[in-house]
Amino acid sequence: MAGTEERSRFLHLRRVSAAMLTAEQLEVRRLALDLARGEVRPHVEEWDRQRQVPQGILDAMAELGFMGMRVPETHGGLGFDLPTYLVALEALAWGDASLGLGLAVHNGPVTRAVHAYGSDEQKEAWLPRLASGDVLGAFAVAEGEAGGDLASLVVRAAPTADGSGWTLSGEKAWVTNGDRAGLLVVLARTGEEGDGLSAFLVARDTPGIQVVERERTMGFSAAEIVTVRFDRVALPSQALLGEVGDGHDVVADASNVGRLGVAAVALGIAQAAYEHALRYAGEREQFGRLLHDFGAIQEKLAGMALRIAQARSLLLHVSAAAEAEAPAEGIHPASLRAQVAMAKVAASEAASWIADEAVQIYGGYGYMRDYPVERLMRDAKGTEIHEGSSELLRMWMALDAVGDAGLS
Ligand SMILES: Cc1cc2nc3c(=O)[nH]c(=O)nc-3n(C[C@H](O)[C@H](O)[C@H](O)COP(=O)(O)OP(=O)(O)OC[C@H]3O[C@@H](n4cnc5c(N)ncnc54)[C@H](O)[C@@H]3O)c2cc1C
Repeated sequence: MAGTEERSRFLHLRRVSAAMLTAEQLEVRRLALDLARGEVRPHVEEWDRQRQVPQGILDAMAELGFMGMRVPETHGGLGFDLPTYLVALEALAWGDASLGLGLAVHNGPVTRAVHAYGSDEQKEAWLPRLASGDVLGAFAVAEGEAGGDLASLVVRAAPTADGSGWTLSGEKAWVTNGDRAGLLVVLARTGEEGDGLSAFLVARDTPGIQVVERERTMGFSAAEIVTVRFDRVALPSQALLGEVGDGHDVVADASNVGRLGVAAVALGIAQAAYEHALRYAGEREQFGRLLHDFGAIQEKLAGMALRIAQARSLLLHVSAAAEAEAPAEGIHPASLRAQVAMAKVAASEAASWIADEAVQIYGGYGYMRDYPVERLMRDAKGTEIHEGSSELLRMWMALDAVGDAGLS
């Protein structure tokens, strides 16, 4: 464990960005870091091996309000704005990326979808339970045959003959939190054409829902990523979120918040990898000198610090813009899509590059399961794919840049 002086040296990047944070955000970050340092970090390797986080840590998160960061206070949450939420999430993901990813899905797209599109009854039914942690949320969009290409989704919700509800059938892939979730936001086909999609709030204990496979993921091992099968699941009409055909909008809006969350998780990974590498470079001696005395290693450390500072500044900037432009309820303006994409691509690619450099600085030990940077490298890769792959997000940036000038 690093001493106080050493720790403050590790945290110098945080001091740089702290200049941009409000007193409330600094306090929230301190709380989240204390929790991550005391209750999360000591157990990360064990959770990675066991491929799950214990319920106790989710209960501890709930106790401090971290399950309801984006639920309004009127419904029992903390009602954080986007920048404050992301500051807290980065700190928690610094503790453990798998835990961070689960929190990002729960507090991000799931909470956003209910809050922005839910009826008063749906909000009353779900928001207080999400905020208290009684119910964990999962976001079920991707399928084995289609992830980013929503027009190709095949999971179907058919109206019942008497018009009283819906019958949901098919399989959703890679559902984070899917095993433990009490609420799934499910995107399903309700029309024939590509855009004929609707979103549903599906209680996990509805008969006919089954977790058929626990995915053997490269990283995020403890995030409980599963395949969920819906076998003629009977849903009441009140399960529909928004109107029939709103599914694409619901997911586009919720995913904007989801992407910012994944960016914060990526930053937590990047910061952790950087700190490990910095410490190791100050301890390991080769050729009679500490690694951090070699120019090649200094260049790596400087590059890592630079990429973190760039990505964090961009995320703060974009999340502040999103907060200013997006109404609490309603649809995120499409104009935000490219900015959010930039923030997510910058953070996730920085995380992968930094974790890779951290493994390199550790040398042979870095390649061993016994050292944390190997896990961080596996986790980082997932942030480049989940909630919009970098290629897809770059395409949106290009579309935004060139407008109607040729791309469609
Ligand atoms: C850690 C993790 C957690 C996840 N959690 C969830 C979850 O909770 N809920 C959920 O619904 N999904 C989840 N997913 C799934 C994830 O959202 C999808 O994997 C992602 O959207 C990509 O879709 P795909 O896998 O079908 O890739 P594909 O769409 O098949 O893409 C394959 C490759 O082709 C590229 N590509 C595709 N289309 C284009 C194009 N038009 N132009 C250029 N390149 C293109 C992609 O960028 C990618 O590199 C998770 C995935 C991971 C890795």
